[in-house]
Order: sequence, then structure tokens, then C-alpha cells
Amino acid sequence: MFAGWLKLAKTCDHCGLDFGYAQTDDGPAFFALCITAFPLVFVVVYVQVKFDPPWWVHVFTSMPILVLGCVATLRPFKGWLAASQYVNHAVEAGTEGLWAELNAREKADEKP
Ligand SMILES: [Zn+2]
Repeated sequence: MFAGWLKLAKTCDHCGLDFGYAQTDDGPAFFALCITAFPLVFVVVYVQVKFDPPWWVHVFTSMPILVLGCVATLRPFKGWLAASQYVNHAVEAGTEGLWAELNAREKADEKP
């Protein structure tokens, strides 16, 4: 499904599905932040208030958890969002006509 760390392949290796429909934009980053950074903020604030550690404790504990948590979840979230867009035939609300027109034009351009 992926041609790089986060770049989607043009087509599926197994079934040849064209991934041109997939527009995940910043969705994976949003979900990665929500599942990692949002809960981590509460932990960091709790640790700070309860133990009052020096600032470098957060640099060596919170920052690696934040970076690794976000980086490790980006790819699964991107795959999940691309799959969800395919399963749900997702297009931006109100742009179904425009989407159909643009895709028809792309296919017409490919023929010659
Ligand atoms: Zn496939």
C-alpha cells in the first residue's frame, strides 16, 4: 500500500486498486496527535504538579514519548483513512459532481 514511509503507492500490489482516490491530507497527523499528545499533556501536567521535576526531565521523558508516539501511529492511521475513504466512497461534502467531473477528465486525459 505504501511506496515510502508515508507516501501511498499508485496502485495496490495485490489487486491493482488505483489509490488515486485517497486524499488523507492531515488526517493521520490529527489522529496521531489526538491519541498521543492529548493524553500525554495530562500526564505531563500531573508529573509537573505532583513532583515538580526540572525541565530536562520532560525533555528526556515526555518528548521521546511524544515523537515516537506520533511517528509510530502516522502510517497505520494513513492506511486506515485511505481504506475508510475507499470503503465509504468518501468525497468532500457537496462536491460529488465536481469530483465526478474531475475524475472523468483525468481518465479522458489518460486515453491518448
Ligand atoms: Zn489491493
